[in-house]
Amino acid sequence: MMAEKAAARLAMEGTLSKEEIMLLLETEAQDAYLISEARKKADEVFGKTIYLRGLIEISSYCKNDCLYCGLRKSNKKAVRYRLSEEDILSAAEEGYKNGLRTFVLQGGEDGYFTDDRLVPVIETLKAKYPDAAVTLSLGERSKASYKRLREAGADRYLLRHETANPTHYGKLHPDKMRLSDRMECLANLKELGYQVGAGFMVGSPYQTLEHIAEDLLFLKEFEPHMIGIGPFLPQKDTPLGTFPSGSLSMTVKLLAILRLMHPRVLLPATTALATLSKGGREQGIRAGANVVMPNLSPPKVRGKYAIYDEKAFETIEEVTEKIEAIGFQIKNVRGDYK
Ligand code: SAH
Repeated sequence: MMAEKAAARLAMEGTLSKEEIMLLLETEAQDAYLISEARKKADEVFGKTIYLRGLIEISSYCKNDCLYCGLRKSNKKAVRYRLSEEDILSAAEEGYKNGLRTFVLQGGEDGYFTDDRLVPVIETLKAKYPDAAVTLSLGERSKASYKRLREAGADRYLLRHETANPTHYGKLHPDKMRLSDRMECLANLKELGYQVGAGFMVGSPYQTLEHIAEDLLFLKEFEPHMIGIGPFLPQKDTPLGTFPSGSLSMTVKLLAILRLMHPRVLLPATTALATLSKGGREQGIRAGANVVMPNLSPPKVRGKYAIYDEKAFETIEEVTEKIEAIGFQIKNVRGDYK
């Protein structure tokens, strides 16, 4: 009964107290209602349009040691590669020809990719494809670096906060990584005029429902332009590789709650969700997600950006087919936050 009231208030007002969030997270009774209200909200803002982002995984080298991630520096079994400027540009060209108008350059924190190396790539992409957006997802960098990359033309930056609880953050990361550093990066990115994405893993090791409530409250306060969430998926060569995957139903419910809390936010149905379950991506869209990120990385590196095991590799054709099969359409536009 209490949860029912909280769900109705969320659908009406888009905000909730921590206690109300906890009520919704503790029961599945309101899930169907939340999902249908969230999709209605997404339909009001985006109609049946889904935006595609072409993901180019530029490097599997990483100087960090996040305990959940297969690319962590200590993972001797990880296969390391980095794409050349030529590789990146030809992946983008392929995507552009297929209608993509956002390129996401993602990678581990690879010292090779200095500002001097990234700036020309960003400038070339922006010059060749003036109607396309460039998104970066390259982890924590200095404010000066974010500034240079922004001045080179980068439009957006994805940097998940991973968890808003400092103690929980400490269980997922090595000692020298700090939640406060991550938060500072997010603030800097916003100040520099990027469209900024934050987010977290669902069902990460040691995560409690209270942590998730804290994540939702942080996101409400920070108001990112994009929110990336997906289930935790174990990578067997990491210290957290024996923990179970995050749950499908919790991830889908959280997408719905996020849509209701942030009607205009750009909300992907992530690769992790598609990897967790056949039909996971479709469930995400039905719960209010409006973005899908097909993979543009060249065939020679496929399977090597192994942040978790059995990562799905989905091409533009594959995701388009799935999206259209459930009554949604792709639009070949940048799809900026409005
Ligand atoms: N180095 C960049 C990109 C990291 S990969 C950065 O630090 O932002 C992008 C996201 O994948 C991470 O932010 C994390 O939330 C997610 N991820 C990493 N390992 C994962 C795992 N084992 N299961 C699910 N998601 C994972």
